[in-house]
Amino acid sequence: MFLDHIDIYHVSPCFAEAGKIRVKARLSDDISEIMPYLNRVVKNANYNEHAPNITMFKEIRMITLQPNELILIKALNDTDARQVLNWLKDLINDTAERVDEIEPLYESKKRPHPLQLYTWLPRNNCGRCGEKTCIAFAALLSVGQQSLERCKPLFSEEYKEQCEVMINLVEILGHDISQLHL
Ligand code: SF4
Repeated sequence: MFLDHIDIYHVSPCFAEAGKIRVKARLSDDISEIMPYLNRVVKNANYNEHAPNITMFKEIRMITLQPNELILIKALNDTDARQVLNWLKDLINDTAERVDEIEPLYESKKRPHPLQLYTWLPRNNCGRCGEKTCIAFAALLSVGQQSLERCKPLFSEEYKEQCEVMINLVEILGHDISQLHL
């Protein structure tokens, strides 16, 4: 077995959606070498070779995998989170067993769509970024004509969860995230 276990070490309320939870977990083994294969077999996965990390969705839940840990957001509850992590462990192990049959994919498959970016913004149209609406900000962000740090509300404690997701998304878009701090 390639990955022996995934251990949850932190659970908190999900800021992205009330009533759901956010889970941090450690992986027993470094999965860096499997990421390009996961990028090939998981349709909604997005791999960032330079981080490295890979983001994928399980229905409404979003999983960001790093070599030795992960963040799962929008899990329904503790039982749901454990089921998702079991699914993920099986996926990783199954993929690891089949690397001889799978062509690794090192490129990020698709750039996040403006509507995907919009989903994770505060969406209060406050105008502090200089745009009249959040959708306008998202559209400009997607083409590199806006900077994430201009959305000040996003960096408040209230939107911490969305902010983490957005930083991942703009990194996929090629933005420099080195100056962004949660
Ligand atoms: S600052 Fe953020 S929340 Fe306010 S309008 Fe711009 S994108 Fe929307």
